[in-house]
Amino acid sequence: MDKYEVLKKYFGYDSFREGQEMLIDAVLKGQDALGIMPTGAGKSICYQVPALLLPGVTLVVSPLISLMKDQVQSLNQAGIHAAYINSSLTEGQIAKALGLAAQGAYKIIYVAPERLESYGFLQFAAKAQITMLTVDEAHCISQWGQDFRPSYLKIVQFIRRLPRRPVISAFTATATETVQDDIVCVLGLRNPTVLVTGFDRKNLYFAVETPRKKDAYLLHYVQEHAGDSGVIYCATRKSVEAVCEKLAAVRIPVTRYHAGLSGEERKQNQEDFIYDRKPVMVATNAFGMGIDKSNVRYVIHYNMPQSLENYYQEAGRAGRDGEPGECILLYSPQDMVTNRFLLGSKEQNAEMTEEQLAAIRERDEERLQAMYHYCMTRNCLREYILHYFGEQGSGRCENCSNCRKEFEEVNVTEEGRQIIRCILEMRQRYGVNVVAGTLLGDNRARLKEYHVSDYPSYGSLKGHTEAEIKEIINQMIVEGVLAQTRDRYALLRIAPKAQGILKGEEELFLKRPLHADPPPAPNGQMAGDFDIVSPKRKKSDILNSRGLELFETLRKLRMEIAREEAVPPYMIFSDKTLVDMCVKLPGDKKEMLNVSGVGENKYQKYGERFLRQMKEYTGGIRRDTTNGR
Ligand code: ADP
Repeated sequence: MDKYEVLKKYFGYDSFREGQEMLIDAVLKGQDALGIMPTGAGKSICYQVPALLLPGVTLVVSPLISLMKDQVQSLNQAGIHAAYINSSLTEGQIAKALGLAAQGAYKIIYVAPERLESYGFLQFAAKAQITMLTVDEAHCISQWGQDFRPSYLKIVQFIRRLPRRPVISAFTATATETVQDDIVCVLGLRNPTVLVTGFDRKNLYFAVETPRKKDAYLLHYVQEHAGDSGVIYCATRKSVEAVCEKLAAVRIPVTRYHAGLSGEERKQNQEDFIYDRKPVMVATNAFGMGIDKSNVRYVIHYNMPQSLENYYQEAGRAGRDGEPGECILLYSPQDMVTNRFLLGSKEQNAEMTEEQLAAIRERDEERLQAMYHYCMTRNCLREYILHYFGEQGSGRCENCSNCRKEFEEVNVTEEGRQIIRCILEMRQRYGVNVVAGTLLGDNRARLKEYHVSDYPSYGSLKGHTEAEIKEIINQMIVEGVLAQTRDRYALLRIAPKAQGILKGEEELFLKRPLHADPPPAPNGQMAGDFDIVSPKRKKSDILNSRGLELFETLRKLRMEIAREEAVPPYMIFSDKTLVDMCVKLPGDKKEMLNVSGVGENKYQKYGERFLRQMKEYTGGIRRDTTNGR
């Protein structure tokens, strides 16, 4: 068999994705490889395909125990012999697995890094023919990365102990250049083929919304997307509870996850989500690491996260199967306050000096500001993200809420001028709250104490709400008209650009959403430079009502089989595969094997049942199920 046959037979795919082939070819030639690819790009195929073509066994080092089980289950589904060895197994189970491994029962073995120095494992490794060693989440080896794991250093010692050095492949979704260099050096990769694919996730739609009533927005959205799987991230445990309750009250199959729940409940809720028993998950950012659910169709952030790094990682859990996914951030000004509070009460490392702590606080604040600017920008959101991660987009993606211009521009130059005057009158000694309160003409006790009514600007923006004034001030910060001191007082300062506004040479605009409630659904074909490869379309764009009905029928069958076999539904067939079935309407084995994601083994297991179900639905008559392309 060659690599194409393996891809088709076991995974049911016709072609490799960008970059996959290059890494596969490298390791098949015996050359080390390093792949830096975003979530959902298809890293697993890059080592699973060569693992099946190489003699002997491939070891995959992974830090995520839950993911190992998932991966192994998926491989077994595809007819590939694989196993995992980690602390979730008993000593007896480990001995048994190693015994089978020694007899050559597995092509791929997942292993936790700690295991690499255990006596039993080393004994096995000394005798086994290990042809490839794959390091997943390879950034964990770098002390510069966010997730450094000392146990990853054991990999290096382990390789040295082997009688023959296997070819090494390493993969990660996040790596700055420093981390990349670290991976190559620390792992001792020899003249590796390095592939860095872009950060862009073309199938994801990005939106920032500022609905007046987040709950109403959310409810509407989730109901509109009934049947789809989604994650809703909240900033605090309390809001997880509240949001989950509200959704449950209208009978949405929803569950929750946060660090305050017992380990048992977390496990149960996570499984309910993965198995689509409760396809909607409300969670804090404690949820998601090691979750590989491919059919998550939307990720909604009920609050703004603390950094764009966090946001992109969490939002990126949508659409791992390559099908369209939506990432929507519900912003409100209160989010800044909550986040500053959460950052302020973050657990500190007791061994750090005051100087180091100050540096961390400053970095946190900068990240928060960048996140905030994402919510405020009027430009392409995808461009903003790519730029933040050091890449260049083409300026407009036509697949984010800004490119689709779902907001209006309001000229606030005059208000801006008033704000600047007020700050100057106050000799730049106060922060946002005092400045906004003064302009409003508020007489809170705190303001009285500062005698703010003595300033000429007092009450000069009376007709506005406090939120509006703060919004304008924020926009002025984003545009560099104003600045804030980096200490916790965050005093407002005048930046050089303010002169242009005062002199009437420059104008100031604010972004105001046109339809915040209810949500605008992104629809139709996308255009623009980002979609040159292939425009991604939602299933409701591809399938007509007959097709959608068939999809639901097949989805039910998938659920039924998933229950029987106790595996997550997406491991049987992905949403993408079901859509392709509805489009191609296969009538026999040969046609079924033509469906993307149906390999030989999956056909043996499920093909007949799906064929039968389809025949039953169509009555053997082929009527169009698509909207035509
Ligand atoms: P990553 O580990 O990079 O996040 P995965 O390996 O989980 O991504 O792959 C994401 C999804 O893409 C999976 O559903 C996988 O089956 C699918 N996939 C990978 N390679 C291909 C391909 N060549 N053609 C079609 N689908 C693919």
